[in-house]
Amino acid sequence: MKCGDFPLKSMAYIDDEMTRGEKSEFEKHVAECARCAAELEKLRRVKKMTGRIRMADLEDQEWDRYWGGIYNRVERFLGWILLSVGAIITISWGMFHALRELLADPTVPLVVRFAIFGVVVGLAILFVSVARQRYFAWKSDPYREVKR
Ligand SMILES: [Zn+2]
Repeated sequence: MKCGDFPLKSMAYIDDEMTRGEKSEFEKHVAECARCAAELEKLRRVKKMTGRIRMADLEDQEWDRYWGGIYNRVERFLGWILLSVGAIITISWGMFHALRELLADPTVPLVVRFAIFGVVVGLAILFVSVARQRYFAWKSDPYREVKR
C-alpha cells in the first residue's frame, strides 16, 4: 500500500469494510508510516465524536444540512423581517398613544409633530435592532451549549 491510497482505504478500515488481506496490508503500512498513523489517529477521533455514523454517510449528511440550512435561512429571514416590522409598528403605536394628548394639542407646531414622530419611530427601530443583536450574540455564544 502507498500513502496515496490512505484517504480511501482508511475510510474502509474505520468502517470495518476490509477483507483480512486488505486489513493486514493497511495495518502493516500504518505500523511503518508515522504520517499515516497520525492521520488514522485523527480519523479515529472523528469517528468517536460522530458516534455510529459511517464515514461514507457524512457526505450525504452535509448535503442535507446544506439544503436544510438554506430553507432555514429563508424562513428565519422572513421571520425576522415580520417580527421587526411588527414590533416597530406596535411599539410606535403604543408610544403615539401615550403622546396622544400632546399630539392632539393644536398649539403644537407641525415641525414638532414631525420631530416627535421621528423620535418615536427611531426609538422603536433602535430597540428592535438592539434586541435582535443581543439575541444573535447570545445564540452564537460558543460556551452556551457546551456540555462538560
Ligand atoms: Zn503512509
